[in-house]
Amino acid sequence: MNVSAHIEAVYAEVCRRNPGEAEFHQAAAEVLESLAPALERHPEYADTGIVERLVEPERQLIFRVPWVDDQGAVQVNRGFRVEFNSALGPYKGGLRFHPSVNLGIVKFLGFEQIFKNALTGMAIGGGKGGADFDPKGRSDGEIMRFCQSFMTELYRHLGEHTDVPAGDIGVGGREIGYLFGQYRRITNRYESGVLTGKPVGWGGSHVRTEATGYGAVYFAQEMLATRGQNFEGRRVVVSGSGNVALYAVEKVHALGGRVVACSDSSGYLVDEDGIDLELLKQVKEVRRERVSAYAEAKRTARFSARGTVYDVACDIALPCATQNEVRCEDAVALVKNGILAVAEGANMPCTPEAVRVFREAGVLFGPGKAANAGGVATSALEMQQNAARDSWSFEQTESRLAEVMRGVHAECRTTAEAYGAGPEDYVFGANVAGFLRVARAMTAQGVI
Ligand code: NDP
Repeated sequence: MNVSAHIEAVYAEVCRRNPGEAEFHQAAAEVLESLAPALERHPEYADTGIVERLVEPERQLIFRVPWVDDQGAVQVNRGFRVEFNSALGPYKGGLRFHPSVNLGIVKFLGFEQIFKNALTGMAIGGGKGGADFDPKGRSDGEIMRFCQSFMTELYRHLGEHTDVPAGDIGVGGREIGYLFGQYRRITNRYESGVLTGKPVGWGGSHVRTEATGYGAVYFAQEMLATRGQNFEGRRVVVSGSGNVALYAVEKVHALGGRVVACSDSSGYLVDEDGIDLELLKQVKEVRRERVSAYAEAKRTARFSARGTVYDVACDIALPCATQNEVRCEDAVALVKNGILAVAEGANMPCTPEAVRVFREAGVLFGPGKAANAGGVATSALEMQQNAARDSWSFEQTESRLAEVMRGVHAECRTTAEAYGAGPEDYVFGANVAGFLRVARAMTAQGVI
């Protein structure tokens, strides 16, 4: 069978075996489309079924999460953990608590994670998990009871050498604390390295909270530098207003750019003065309110529940909310307004059609598996500190993060060129570079 027919057959099997899992099909197609040149150069990977094995998770867990709400009523959610690939290290990837979570979404995220983690050059495999639990409007007590019930099932599958979750949408320092507490109680082990994203002070790493947002901005900065440009004086739009978005805003401002708009699931906010980060944190992190509360507190800002944040003209866009939020028409509007660069802080926020629009228009485009790798890279730094019972300074950790992001950027470009694409084809470069690292390890470890 020739290479293209082989890849098509694998994709057909992914669709047949995982019916209805549209996001997983999309993520698999995006990687598979890049692999022909690598498989032509390395026929041994085709012969040993590397691609067939890569698209099939090593283990998939689905479990009931019962808990009692503040009214005394029993609630039942569904928990997931997809342990996708451990050729390079323990499964590593976050937990997402959001009502949209289902097996297909967890699988798409876990699949992306394999290549992202490989790209960092660190010893971490790929996995992802979560639950269809909606934390919005829940009390601290409810969040705690949910996390405890979730961990009461998941703990048996985790371990610092086995599977190491972290946060994602709806899971931040508070949730990681409750999850860790329950793991410690059940196992009677203070196993710091079993979860990352812990608060600083009891095993957490400096810069982990900031890492994904900072890393995405570093990646964008590296892309811009290749064209002799930078963030200085640039108008920037960031979608979302959660963990990744907040620290992307912070780093853009530190580099002299101006973030003029951000969003949440209720709408978007424009502040031509530049987003006031302290006010935004107060609204989103302390008061846990909608972004409209920012506009109520600051008269120069306006909130819109209609349209999207991508209607706002900008030089650089950093989508940091969720998958498939940048549609074809958003990309067309951004290009029309003269956009220079897009770096995905979120996982797969641009639809395939939007990516095509950016690439055809010559916009610098950093895919999530490269641009948002700073989060998981800093989680791996947290694991290193935990293993050594050590704690590094903010500056030391941030310089390691910056170094990793420079390395990921360079790896995408050199691999893209080495395998026959232009250096600006970051999508192709990220897919092939990540694939090669995992394929080498899988081949060496035999058919397992
Ligand atoms: P948070 O829960 O902290 O924030 C998510 C933000 O996105 C919120 O502002 C939320 O709005 C918004 N959002 C979520 N779903 C939607 C939707 N359907 N439509 C519009 N807005 C939405 O999550 P994170 O910041 O941690 O994660 C954001 C993205 O980054 C995700 O794709 C995640 O997988 C990815 N990522 C995160 C990493 C991390 O370290 N945290 C690492 C790598 C990738 P609202 O408050 O209204 O729900």
